[in-house]
Formats: sequence, structure tokens, C-alpha cells
Amino acid sequence: MLAEMGIKPAWRLREAAALPVSGDATVAAPELMVEAVKNAEDIVREPASVPAMTADAQRRSNIAALDWDGLASTVSDCRACGLCERRKQAVLGVGDRQADWMFVGEGPGAEEDERGEPFVGQAGKLLDAMLESISLKRGENVYIANAVKCRPPGNRTPEAIEIATCRPYLERQIELVQPKLLIALGRPAAQILLGQELSIASARRKVHRYAIGNIPVVVTYHPAYLLRTLPDKAKAWEDLCFALDLVAQP
Ligand code: SF4
Repeated sequence: MLAEMGIKPAWRLREAAALPVSGDATVAAPELMVEAVKNAEDIVREPASVPAMTADAQRRSNIAALDWDGLASTVSDCRACGLCERRKQAVLGVGDRQADWMFVGEGPGAEEDERGEPFVGQAGKLLDAMLESISLKRGENVYIANAVKCRPPGNRTPEAIEIATCRPYLERQIELVQPKLLIALGRPAAQILLGQELSIASARRKVHRYAIGNIPVVVTYHPAYLLRTLPDKAKAWEDLCFALDLVAQP
């Protein structure tokens, strides 16, 4: 019966128990049989050992269950990566929480860190102008966020570990907004959303897919780059028109 159940009892020889011998065959003493059954019962009753969830998996799971208020307060208090050390405040995002359009940049700059809103200052003004050029407006059917929520010192590109640590917040935001389209502003944002190395030149004017939810992703230039490279503004305009066509499709 025990063999059928896949249980091999651990036999233990008691000092006092003498093994009766019948011919060449060794027969277990009744006391030993009882002991074996007890051991087997203990094995059966023992709960199966479930591998403990790692702290990172637990954190991801907790973030994935947050609502907007929970997400906002968790991000505000977050000290999960080194970017918390020099930020003034974490910058979650801004806009319509049920928007069709979601724009994702890289990380807050100095003014965003100061004001607690993504894409303010000169780059923000240009983004607003870009939105207006396709009849969109910040806060109306548009949600804007960054891949990392705290300002990298000196506006450097966030490090891989910082991006990975902050990623569950972005994933939860996207899940809550459920946009029809994601616009990646700049190469780092595109790489973070698509999980692969790419160049803006090769990624433009193509429909990519965000893995969670299969949401279409369009890649274009970051407004801060466009402020430095005026000729590429025309390309960004093309990208927005491309995105507009995509959203208009049934
Ligand atoms: S960048 Fe993201 S993970 Fe790092 S401290 Fe800020 S909110 Fe937390």
C-alpha cells in the first residue's frame, strides 16, 4: 500500500527488537511495522514544502495589486533603488487615467523633480505643442509618465538596475490606464517598453507591441532631443501622424 502511494517508510531498528528469522527470509517484528506506519503517516501529514516567494517577487505581486491611490502613495514613499537618495519627490505621472494615448519618457528632469509632474519646462512645452498638432491636450485622453519615477542625478540615463526596480510601477500604470496606444519618447523609453535594444531610426514608423496586453507601441524622439536637433521635428510630426492613423483604425 505504501509502495503504491510512492512512500518509502524509513525503517529504524529498535535496540530491543529482535528480528525473528524464518528460514532464509527476514520478517519484520510487529513493533517495527507499527513504527514504519507511523513514519509513513507523518510523511503523509507533513505539508508539501512550497518554495518561499522571493522578496522581489512579493514586491512585484504587491505592486500589481495596487489601485491608483495605493500606487501614488507607494511611489511617493519608495526607496527601492538609489535614485531615491537625491530626488526631491517621486513623479508618478499625470493626465487622464482612462486615456487612449499614453506617452512614456525616460525619467524626470530637474523641473519635473521640483514640480512633481512629468514633462514640464521646455521639453514639456514642446510635448504639449506636439500633442496640440494632432488635436490632443495634456490631461484630455492623454496620460504621461516616465519609466523611472525619480530623477537620475545630472539627468543621466537611468541604470539598468534602476529601470528594472522601477518597472513594476510603470507596468501597473499601463495596466490601470489600459491605453489604446503607447508612444515611447526616446530610445531608452522605447527599449524599456519593448525589452530590446533598438535605434530610433530603425524603430520609427513601425507598430511594435508591448508584451503585457499586446498594446501597440509607436516610437519617436524625446522632446528634449528635438529641442537640440530641430531638423528631426519633422520626423516626430510624421511619427505622430502615423500614430494618429493607428488609433483611428477600427
Ligand atoms: S526610481 Fe522608482 S524604484 Fe527607484 S526609488 Fe524612485 S520610485 Fe522607487
